[in-house]
Amino acid sequence: MKALVYHGNKDLRLEAVPEPVPAPGEIKLRIDYCGICATDIEEYLYGPKFIFGDAPNILTGKSVPLITGHEITGTVVEASGDGVAEGDRVVLNTVLTCGKCHGCLTGQKTQCPNMATAGFARDGGLAEYMVWPASEAIRLPDGVSSEEAALVEPASVALHAIRRSRIIAGESVVILGCGTVGLLAMQQVKAAGGHVIAVDRRRISLDMASDLGADATLDARDPDLAAKLREFNDGAGPDLVIDAAGGKDTPALAIDWARIGGRVLLVAIYTAVPKFDFNSLVAGEKEIIGSLGYERRDVEEVVGMIDTGDLRTAPLITDKIGLEEIIEKGFDRMLKPKKDVFRILVSPSGAAHT
Ligand SMILES: [Zn+2]
Ligand SMILES: [Zn+2]
Repeated sequence: MKALVYHGNKDLRLEAVPEPVPAPGEIKLRIDYCGICATDIEEYLYGPKFIFGDAPNILTGKSVPLITGHEITGTVVEASGDGVAEGDRVVLNTVLTCGKCHGCLTGQKTQCPNMATAGFARDGGLAEYMVWPASEAIRLPDGVSSEEAALVEPASVALHAIRRSRIIAGESVVILGCGTVGLLAMQQVKAAGGHVIAVDRRRISLDMASDLGADATLDARDPDLAAKLREFNDGAGPDLVIDAAGGKDTPALAIDWARIGGRVLLVAIYTAVPKFDFNSLVAGEKEIIGSLGYERRDVEEVVGMIDTGDLRTAPLITDKIGLEEIIEKGFDRMLKPKKDVFRILVSPSGAAHT
């Protein structure tokens, strides 16, 4: 079968590989759609970072070369006898954990140091087929299309972050960076009863934020931005600032914007290592919270939110392409300095459901 294989820094190859064979307890999926994520681009440009390079992952024993792609939805073509059945459309909990560490034993699976994820520590979904533990496949209801479901993975990242933010109804929340994860987080803040101010440099992002329910939008280049943000919350400033932008200066901006006693949630991946004056945290009694990945319950809840209409993912699908077009129509477009896309979905089997 054809697959996009990560061999190393700036070395991605579309090549023929053997079709995977499910181990006991695993299912085989035909991939209907796999999204291209900013993390894939970061691994290509700056990796191996999260993808396992020289030292293999402890759970899977795997390292590069690995089939990349982690925003996956597919149809079961070989079931294992338990859980999902042949013909079921599914999404995956792509985060496998060890079950033995402090994080796993205390119900904080995203804190498992042995975490293994699809496309980073096991073969992922930019391929015609993949195999995965049957226990970590979640069946899609009829009301959720396969296209919409291709964004369940980034939506689960966003939902896990919102849980960690300890948001309560009525809070003022700034979303800094209205790309795919930012706009999914924004809708989850709205669903939790928050008041959202969306901030981005790109017009396309601010327009999309308005369409998806932002209460206010502000241009990140506005010289009076900090003063305008302070006006929210009766002049106290925002209770919570979510950095989904991942820029060199965005965490410092987020900390500056949060009200005294407020919270900052970081859900981006940073490539720069800036200097920072920690007195700004001390003096304002502010908190910084990190969030990585998600758990099965996040995936299940996201599927439910799409089904009920509380979460709209379809507007974030910019294009759908075939696997053979992935470099020129996928990666090259995502790499452009003036990126004009949210998600590009790849249909490796070319036989996707709708
Ligand atoms: Zn992703
Ligand atoms: Zn663990």
